[in-house]
Amino acid sequence: MDFEYGIIGGGPAGYTAGINLAKQGHSVVLFEKNKLGGTCMNSGCIPTKSFLHSAEIFSNLQKAEEYGIKADFTDFNFALVAEKKDKTVEKIRKALELTVKNAGVKTIYAEACIKDKNTVIAENTEYKVQHIIAACGSKPKELKGLEFDGEFILSSDDVLNLKKLPESVLIVGSGAIGTEWARIFSAFGVEVTITELAEHLIPTADIEVSKRIERIYKQKGIKFYLNDCVEKIENKTVKLKSGTEITPEIILVAAGRTPICPVCNDITVLGDSCGEIQLAHYAIHQAKEYTLGIPFEKKLTPSVIYGEPEIAWAGLREQDIDESYTKIMLPITALGKSWCDDATDGFIKLITKNDLIYGAHIISKEASALLHTLLLAMQQKITVDKLKEMCFAHPTYSEGIFEAICRIK
Ligand SMILES: Cc1cc2nc3c(=O)[nH]c(=O)nc-3n(C[C@H](O)[C@H](O)[C@H](O)COP(=O)(O)OP(=O)(O)OC[C@H]3O[C@@H](n4cnc5c(N)ncnc54)[C@H](O)[C@@H]3O)c2cc1C
Repeated sequence: MDFEYGIIGGGPAGYTAGINLAKQGHSVVLFEKNKLGGTCMNSGCIPTKSFLHSAEIFSNLQKAEEYGIKADFTDFNFALVAEKKDKTVEKIRKALELTVKNAGVKTIYAEACIKDKNTVIAENTEYKVQHIIAACGSKPKELKGLEFDGEFILSSDDVLNLKKLPESVLIVGSGAIGTEWARIFSAFGVEVTITELAEHLIPTADIEVSKRIERIYKQKGIKFYLNDCVEKIENKTVKLKSGTEITPEIILVAAGRTPICPVCNDITVLGDSCGEIQLAHYAIHQAKEYTLGIPFEKKLTPSVIYGEPEIAWAGLREQDIDESYTKIMLPITALGKSWCDDATDGFIKLITKNDLIYGAHIISKEASALLHTLLLAMQQKITVDKLKEMCFAHPTYSEGIFEAICRIK
């Protein structure tokens, strides 16, 4: 055998598995047909968060005078925004490449295919391996009648290559990707319309989270059509099932992702390839579970949607519970810090039973950070009474957790 492990795919699942296995002394070959870091690094998590940060800076500049700051530079150059995103991605990717190399992983930059459970072929060379790990990721899902053409109908990959912003965009789907792009476009003044097949925006979230986001969108002038979808497109005029006609400059289809999974018995499949929860942290923890034997609580995999305000949740939602659970909701306006930051829209909602927390749903600045305190309590079954003994700093968003649990009767 040439190597003990042959890993196909250098995204979060593949590189996490590769680094851990190599550090344990195993010989590892990793095949990557594109760039190390996968979707997450090159066309997913990192580039969108860089765009979101630029959008946030731009939005804040527009409110600067309210805070006593004179800001004369209220314009932006989208090409430079995109350039900053590229630089950020490149910097992080370079660090990752070094980590993978230093761990002792042999990386082959080529498309690989599986011949049998012990043979991988790349660039006409056969690699004999004891175990194959497929971590090939996923690709943007195409919908009938909305096939990507890279110009009018864009995928989440295509949208990263925009050189200039459109005047208007129709976003199909209001999951995390659709929501983050709606926020980026809207912050830069693009007219945004969303169509969502489900009854509410962000259908996987707690219903009250969805409804609050709908309210925030109305305030921001982001249009949305629920229980609706694209029926047909004629001469760039989009007709929705409801009869509404829209003429967007571009369409972004953000309707989920299709797993890429090689068909072969007796191999291990990790990350998006599995078609389970398609998130980078899920891929990373799956790879850690496989390589280090550290299990993780899959039912408590956190969901985060970035932008202003952040949305974060884990555990049971309103739609999942009966009357035996208690619900409490703390408005973010209760927190002094939110007034200082002009970020008062949102809430911390907890679902509890018998002194334990079963669900946490937050809309707030720093929601992603807040959620982890609650996750720890949920995962480790720390009672609400015990959590109350913790001293939360003031003024923070975190003290909202304390305020919220103090409201539980
Ligand atoms: C716009 C967007 C934003 C996102 N934001 C977030 C976020 O904020 N947080 C979050 O947790 N998740 C986010 N995700 C999801 C996240 O990117 C994925 O869940 C994560 O990248 C999955 O990791 P993976 O290793 O399974 O697959 P991938 O990251 O997709 O990596 C798979 C790799 O395999 C390579 N590959 C495939 N086939 C072959 C082959 N035959 N030979 C060689 N190489 C091959 C691909 O080139 C790719 O590099 C986002 C996704 C998108 C699209």
